[in-house]
Amino acid sequence: MNQVFTFSDFPWTEGSFSTNSEDISKAGQDFGQIILTHPIGVLKPKEITDICNIVRYAAQNQLKLIPRGMSHSAFGQSQCHGGIVIDMTSFNRILSKDYSSGSAWVNVEAGCTWNKLIKSTIEDRYSPFVTTDWQFITVGGTLSTGGVGFMSYQKGLQTDNVLELDVVTGRGEVKICSLESNQRLFHAVRSGLGQFGIIARAKVKLGYAPSDLKIIQFFHTDSKLYLQDIQRLVDQQYFDCIHSFIIPNQLKAIEERIGQNKTLEYKEVITNLIAQPQQWIYFTELGKCSADYSKSHLEGLNQFANFVLLSQANFFDYLHKDPPLITAEKRQGKLTHPELTLIMPEHNLHEFMSELLLELTYDLMGGGTVLLIPLIRDQLSTPLFQTPATNSLFFVGILRNAPLNETELIDRQTQQNLVIYEKAVNFGGNRYPCDSIPKPGSPSEWAEHFGVDKWQEICELKAEFDPENLFISNLNMFGGALN
Ligand SMILES: Cc1cc2nc3c(=O)[nH]c(=O)nc-3n(C[C@H](O)[C@H](O)[C@H](O)COP(=O)(O)OP(=O)(O)OC[C@H]3O[C@@H](n4cnc5c(N)ncnc54)[C@H](O)[C@@H]3O)c2cc1C
Repeated sequence: MNQVFTFSDFPWTEGSFSTNSEDISKAGQDFGQIILTHPIGVLKPKEITDICNIVRYAAQNQLKLIPRGMSHSAFGQSQCHGGIVIDMTSFNRILSKDYSSGSAWVNVEAGCTWNKLIKSTIEDRYSPFVTTDWQFITVGGTLSTGGVGFMSYQKGLQTDNVLELDVVTGRGEVKICSLESNQRLFHAVRSGLGQFGIIARAKVKLGYAPSDLKIIQFFHTDSKLYLQDIQRLVDQQYFDCIHSFIIPNQLKAIEERIGQNKTLEYKEVITNLIAQPQQWIYFTELGKCSADYSKSHLEGLNQFANFVLLSQANFFDYLHKDPPLITAEKRQGKLTHPELTLIMPEHNLHEFMSELLLELTYDLMGGGTVLLIPLIRDQLSTPLFQTPATNSLFFVGILRNAPLNETELIDRQTQQNLVIYEKAVNFGGNRYPCDSIPKPGSPSEWAEHFGVDKWQEICELKAEFDPENLFISNLNMFGGALN
């Protein structure tokens, strides 16, 4: 970007506006550490008027903008090269809560992290219906992406569990939207990747939170049997949480999942498991919130050696377990994450997984893992969260790591992600776009992602809520991204 912009008539702000190199450098990076950009300013708003003012200022000065949460997406989704980044983490107050009516809720500013939200409600024994596997991300960030959680097969996404939003549109206006009022805007901003407006406030649905939950863990070596069993568990609708990891069939990886003590206690079974020819195995964890857990729901499953581990965890601690990418960073320091996240139709998953597992090697995963979460389309009601048309679905997250600056490895991982992405599309899947591949990366590719009719509607939403195409990120959804 050659233009030197002086911000001489910058509007008044209760927050802070920075062009210093440290803030610019931070706002030009994200968790993926693959895309590095150079914004020209960073706003940390304190009041909603700060957000409105900067949007109007950007429109007057032909500047581009993007809102940013904790920047835990991995391919510049919250970066705006040559434009202004609105760092929403400064806008994070908890505004109000209500547990009295039939439907409990909490009202927060969008830069509030889920961790802060849960801390404030769990003491009253309430929690959001759906949580992702990492709570140090913002409410506005996941509502703009989707927010898939272990409870999603029963409860949908985080975007399906929000009652009302305040949004600053590309016209610099504040609109309250919900299913009942300004519905088009409500449909545009949820999973809208910051392209239609800035979510400033969210009223999030809450449910009763147990103090503890039962945890059930087991392994599969065969993907067909694994999928059969998960489908059965999904049909039963008994367990509150279901998710699995594909892990290396190695002692260290198994220990990481079930702990050293359990690995020693069940040495015979684990030795037998490691002796199996499969390079990759499935590790499943189920959660049951109520005290009346009955193991009869596990009867007839095909898990390895009929082996089931049962334990109990504090509910808050369980929600705050470190997910694999964070564990890797805590062990190795800052890493690059060439990840791929997909939504796949269940009926093609066995064939897809068979091809995927042949291609995955331990070094190309960089000590990472594949996360699997079942989803039911009937539970999903967010229009811009794109899924295959079938009812039984899986979130598939290929969560890789690589040391910073290992460019050759990162290139190979990224290339493999692209090959896997094309394969996933051929198997009827699509991308969940918080990961780190450059596809879809142009308006025509986004049109393919959404399908022609839906894309037409999406373009109409963009014209209605951001007519100047102010909100631009590295995803380049509507064109005009600077590089
Ligand atoms: C360790 C880890 C675990 C994860 N686990 C899960 C998981 O279990 N399930 C899941 O679904 N995802 C998961 N993710 C992905 C995560 O949900 C997304 O990356 C999420 O968007 C991150 O929130 P954030 O606050 O970092 O948002 P950012 O990454 O900062 O922003 C994400 C997108 O939202 C937009 N945005 C941010 N704030 C606003 C706002 N206020 N208004 C409008 N647009 C906004 C940005 O422009 C960008 O397009 C995980 C990521 C990591 C790193």
